[in-house]
Amino acid sequence: MARILQPVANYATLQFLINGNWVDSESQEKQGAFNPALGKVIAEVPFGLDEEVTRAVDAAAEAFEGWRNVPVPERLEYLFRMREALERHFQELSTIITQNHGKTIEESEGEMRRTIENVDVAISVAYTLAKGNTLDQIAPGIDETMTKEPLGVFAIVCPFNFPLMVPFWFIPYAIVLGDSIVVKPSEITPVPIQRAAKFIGDEVGLPPGVLNVIHGGRQVVESLIKHRDVKGVTFVGSTPVARHVYRLAGEYGKRAIANGGAKNSVVVMSDADLNHSIPSIVSSFFGNAGQRCLAGANLVTVGEVHDGLMKKFASAASRMKVGNGLEEGVQMGPVVSRKAKERIQGYIESGIGEGAKPITDGRGLRLLEYPEGFFLGPTIFDGVAPEMKLSKDEIFGPVASTLETESLDEAIELINRSTNYGNMANIYTSSGRAAREFRRRVEAGNIGINIGVAAPAAYFPFGGRRDSFYGVLHAQVDTVDFFTDKKVVVSKW
Ligand code: NAD
Repeated sequence: MARILQPVANYATLQFLINGNWVDSESQEKQGAFNPALGKVIAEVPFGLDEEVTRAVDAAAEAFEGWRNVPVPERLEYLFRMREALERHFQELSTIITQNHGKTIEESEGEMRRTIENVDVAISVAYTLAKGNTLDQIAPGIDETMTKEPLGVFAIVCPFNFPLMVPFWFIPYAIVLGDSIVVKPSEITPVPIQRAAKFIGDEVGLPPGVLNVIHGGRQVVESLIKHRDVKGVTFVGSTPVARHVYRLAGEYGKRAIANGGAKNSVVVMSDADLNHSIPSIVSSFFGNAGQRCLAGANLVTVGEVHDGLMKKFASAASRMKVGNGLEEGVQMGPVVSRKAKERIQGYIESGIGEGAKPITDGRGLRLLEYPEGFFLGPTIFDGVAPEMKLSKDEIFGPVASTLETESLDEAIELINRSTNYGNMANIYTSSGRAAREFRRRVEAGNIGINIGVAAPAAYFPFGGRRDSFYGVLHAQVDTVDFFTDKKVVVSKW
């Protein structure tokens, strides 16, 4: 067996970070967090009580008064130290991501890079985008000035699939802009952010209360949103919850960014260069075991490319090495939980029932060394019709549903009408004209052209449309306007 990294076997019961102290929860409600390759519990996650949420928000609100007065250059120093801490623990944090989530170590390292990139961008935008504007002499003797001020406490609610990167779409921006935060990690993959917060706490020296972490589920999220001192919430997760969070935030008069689920289409035109495209298509559908909001889900073929593509796609997918993501050479890890595995298998079964044809079927996969792991092989369906659940529902696993079309127009129509998701859409083609048509007419926030996973770098907003996103401002660099408010002063002298 090649390199296998040895992470800590058990992280015990996770604590909360409140006002700079790691504290035990009083809650009796707990849930196990797993290593999905081994099928074993690696931590117990307490579900915070209302009074614990209140304590975390109160600490953040108190810290805000001091933090907003820390000069920007000094706040930047903290971010430089945060960046150093993440680099110093790069390998350990990557290993923990794989241990708790299941993705391969290379994928976790990629996630860590993007995590750090967000700190870099937060550092670089602090001066440029956060600065205001002044207009001298707008009328005789009158000047007008606009400043952007931090608002107070923000809640950061996270999904399981990028346990470090997604929190860092928001954390460094909020902090450098002078806000304070309470992070609510996924209860399924809470360990990576817990460890990162520990390193940040020990090595960055942020004033107590600027960064707080509290675990739990629905109740914690709702208490956070309802708390008087929470000014806004960022949410990334599934569409039904995104909508619920967005509605609740609206009801309580709070700002919200709510990223939802996805059902991304990958269009392959007959003029695509298949030899170059296949590895990228395989990684789009099966990277992260399909548990990426930018994963390919529907493969849409246009014209005669279908037969040749299916042969090559199936052959490349069947050669993928599935296993423990900590082993070298493994290309696809397990899915995150037993429940996820059962749900995905259910979709494969109902797909067969609906009349779609599985040309590879990942259900039979057994790994002798990991009998309890939540593994599935890549599954590719052919003959999927637009009205089937296989093509409509977000499956969030290693399942590709192939739909045939005759023209680019038909493919675009299919993408825009068959589901109401709009996270990402990709096209493989050698025609600039087709690519341009596609980019302009598809209703999705992220477009890939000859790219399998069109993930925007942190210097760009992380888009999303229709049921994949509720709000106006997006994650990453756009949060500069989310975490600050504009104040205009008109003065006459
Ligand atoms: P999820 O919606 O189940 O959970 C997300 C968060 O919401 C968790 O912290 C969870 O504790 C909390 N939560 C769950 N139910 C809640 C409720 N009723 N009220 C309030 N909070 C609640 O999502 P998940 O399974 O952790 O993540 C996978 C989903 O996230 C997929 O749908 C994926 O497409 C999506 N996702 C989207 C993006 C994007 O940018 N659009 C990025 C990553 C993941």
